[in-house]
Amino acid sequence: MMKRETPQEMDTHSDLALPSLGRTLTLFGRAFTLRCPNCGKGPVLQHPLKLRVKCGTCAMRMQRGEHDSFLGAIFILFTMVGLANYALLLLTAAVTDETPWDVLEWSMPLVTLLLLFLLYPFAKLGWLAFDLMLRPMTPAELEWHRESDIEFEVDLDA
Ligand SMILES: [Zn+2]
Repeated sequence: MMKRETPQEMDTHSDLALPSLGRTLTLFGRAFTLRCPNCGKGPVLQHPLKLRVKCGTCAMRMQRGEHDSFLGAIFILFTMVGLANYALLLLTAAVTDETPWDVLEWSMPLVTLLLLFLLYPFAKLGWLAFDLMLRPMTPAELEWHRESDIEFEVDLDA
């Protein structure tokens, strides 16, 4: 039986870049308006909880062809949910004379659960923006993304 050769995952050829403020704002502005951080267009979502494999305009793979890209997104998601909970707690303490701990006890886990789903696509695209901020897309990498329709070149289950 002939062994099928599997191409390796793409390693970006660009060095780490020191991002400018303008470029950073552009990348995150696109991500948090649910557009592709790379080209500013899209579509990028298959449905609210799932990114398309590739951007509909520039054809960059939304996970950049890397199996571990979700780890960064999870970090961003937990940070956003944590900050939102602190904000809710501070707001409640600021507008009430006596903090309603009994209400917060059941409402905060509920808010957390809701925010995990609501903020999920923003976290995924936010991580992609962060990644592009530090490792800008090169023409060679973009060409690599355009050459294939599959999400990852290396099948880890094989
Ligand atoms: Zn794009």
